[in-house]
Amino acid sequence: MVDIRSVHKSFGSLQVLRGIDLEVRSGEVAVVLGPSGSGKSTLLRAINHLEKVDSGWISVAGSLVGYRRQGDRLYELREREILKQRTRIGFVFQNFNLFPHLTVLENIVEAPVSALRCPRKEAVRAAETLLARVGLADKAAAYPRQLSGGQQQRVAIARALALEPELLLFDEPTSALDPELVGEVLDVIKDLAHQGTTMIVVTHEIGFAREVADTVVFMDGGRIVEQGPPAEVLDAPRHERTKAFLSKVL
Ligand code: ADP
Ligand code: MG
Repeated sequence: MVDIRSVHKSFGSLQVLRGIDLEVRSGEVAVVLGPSGSGKSTLLRAINHLEKVDSGWISVAGSLVGYRRQGDRLYELREREILKQRTRIGFVFQNFNLFPHLTVLENIVEAPVSALRCPRKEAVRAAETLLARVGLADKAAAYPRQLSGGQQQRVAIARALALEPELLLFDEPTSALDPELVGEVLDVIKDLAHQGTTMIVVTHEIGFAREVADTVVFMDGGRIVEQGPPAEVLDAPRHERTKAFLSKVL
């Protein structure tokens, strides 16, 4: 589903991604761990076209998302193709990023109607189903500010699902939440995992990683230092940097 090869990215002289290779199969969950500044968000943003890579390539569901250097030529997608591909990838941010002036229902209905030209009635029906799925059927008419952080994040997940994405990306979805609200959001993500949704989740929640990850990826300094099943990377890490990181977050 996701195939990332030799991806490099710099901001000025700062090398943020230094040759990333990663494969995620359909229905798999990859959990990405790593210290702050290791390039995790940049990697997710590159997959979703929010950031251009300098070299290497990324493909999602068989179609090219990233950029390919062929000889001296840098092959880039046109803006229209990018927008089309972006609708196939759901992105959930740390800070929810809901539209504050729209109700919960309108937040979810907006993208299918505007990006996919889905008939409004149909989009509303689908949104109601999604709200029930994240346990918020009674909040359709509320505004984001009237919800807790955990509820807002569940709306953000429903909004991402409304485009029926082939891939879901989560960037520290529970980092902005009070501790008592973390569980309700992780439960929704776990449900999605059990239903076979392909996901890449950046998180520091090790228990969650152990429970749902097919692959745990540990990044440091723009590189993947170690990757493998949770039982290997979390319980028997081979690299010193992985061990040092885990001893701090566990
Ligand atoms: P992580 O998500 O692992 O904390 P990021 O991918 O956000 O790491 O950032 C990796 C490095 O790239 C950091 O040093 C960060 O300051 C830098 N960086 C990220 N985005 C930009 C940007 N748009 N311009 C300049 N530097 C950036
Ligand atoms: Mg980040």
